[in-house]
Amino acid sequence: MSSGAKVARARAVTLIGLDAHAITVEAEVTQGLPGFSVLGASGSAGREAADRVRAALAAAGCPVGARKVLTSLAPAELPKVGARFDLALAVAVLARLEVLPPAALEGVVLLGELALDGAVRSVPGVLPSLAALESGDRLLVADDDAAEAAVSGGSAEIVPISDLGEAVAVLRGRSTPRRAPEPTAIVPPPVPDLADVQGQHEARRALEVAAAGGHHLLFVGPPGCGKSMLAERLPGLLPSLDADAALQLAAIRSVAGLLDPGRAAVLDTRPPFRAPHHGTTQAALLGGGSGIARPGEVSLAHRGALLVDELLEWPRRLLDGLREPLQEGVVRVARSRATVRYPAAFQLIAATNPCPCGSADGCRCSVQDLQRYRQRLSGPLVDRLDLAPAVRRLAADDVLTDHPAERSAEVAERVAAARRTAEERSATANADAPIALLRASCGTGARQGLAQAVDAGVLTGRGHDRALRVARTLADLDGRDRMDRADVDEALGHRLALLAVEGADR
Ligand SMILES: [Zn+2]
Repeated sequence: MSSGAKVARARAVTLIGLDAHAITVEAEVTQGLPGFSVLGASGSAGREAADRVRAALAAAGCPVGARKVLTSLAPAELPKVGARFDLALAVAVLARLEVLPPAALEGVVLLGELALDGAVRSVPGVLPSLAALESGDRLLVADDDAAEAAVSGGSAEIVPISDLGEAVAVLRGRSTPRRAPEPTAIVPPPVPDLADVQGQHEARRALEVAAAGGHHLLFVGPPGCGKSMLAERLPGLLPSLDADAALQLAAIRSVAGLLDPGRAAVLDTRPPFRAPHHGTTQAALLGGGSGIARPGEVSLAHRGALLVDELLEWPRRLLDGLREPLQEGVVRVARSRATVRYPAAFQLIAATNPCPCGSADGCRCSVQDLQRYRQRLSGPLVDRLDLAPAVRRLAADDVLTDHPAERSAEVAERVAAARRTAEERSATANADAPIALLRASCGTGARQGLAQAVDAGVLTGRGHDRALRVARTLADLDGRDRMDRADVDEALGHRLALLAVEGADR
């Protein structure tokens, strides 16, 4: 060790939600009391990293022995959790010990966990971490993470590394860096098709309207009538995600640890569909967990659909948790050192039995049963739903018909046309459009219909706007510039159905 090199530095990246922040890893080695410490890591992450890095250095033939090794992750105020800094820590120590020349780490960023034998392991969130890289940087990652990093298509050179020894060889220029695998297309499983759904005209129509306008929907019907079967066909009606949205969704999946390690996939442009169970935890639904704040189901459904099946079985606190993402398109997860935000702009598809007994041929529930059941539905959540079609048990006519049901591809064409119209008008789907812009295209009949509903007390202020948005989508699907009375009446039918589900006890 020469006295010239004091502190060695390596670069890494931390994530707060999907936001990447550059981290400087510093290493100092002295002759003090032997030990290995990591400053600036969150919780027990530093102590665990120290043990792994120390073992990996020994396995790679560079034991730190009876020296005092002090490392630090800066800036100190940013949260740093997980094992993603291991590789940078080890390399900074090696630079301090002059196993690596200082110039070897210029323009190099390292992300990877170290096994005790020196192997480099995959870490979550590599894809969004690339945002903290500078042009021309070289990123060293685990073999399993190289394909994911290459998906971003950025200017960084991605170098897969199998173990600490290979990292040293590459950084010293003694080994030719391997190249990340080329992204290859994965053939996705087919999306369920509406052609499989016989009958259910009202529900099919509402699903098409939901897809065209980005509206939230509640299926009401007895058990086993096909509510979830209908719901899972929504993504097949939605347009493919654009590149930005697909990349954002891949970043969410990356942090959640849901991208297949080692699989070099091109970006998945299919809108996601998630169907959590009512027994799920708050962390699994909204995000959280120990260590890294993992994105929840609401974020994994970003730009796609979230099915809340058996709505009235869901605990009230979980339903209340959906209000923020439904309102703002993001979810905030409180952590000890920072609040993490994840995108969560999903379309809600809820489904419920009309009552606890769920009987199609005559309800046997008492008035009290019904009241208790409906009280579980939070009023503010119903206020955010737009469509409430009835789903019925199949009639013999539906099953015996020779007339084939329409395929998803045909419905998706009408949906795409209506979405184009909406985007030309307001640069967004009708569910998110400025309300004044939509009001301007009300015909006289439509205006009267809405006014009468407000006067009759059927519509609250928010309900009025929601009905207007649905009416606009109905006119768009029909290729009309002006909304007319029939559009408003159909939209109002859904609001009345929602009020009925909610019951009179609100
Ligand atoms: Zn009943």
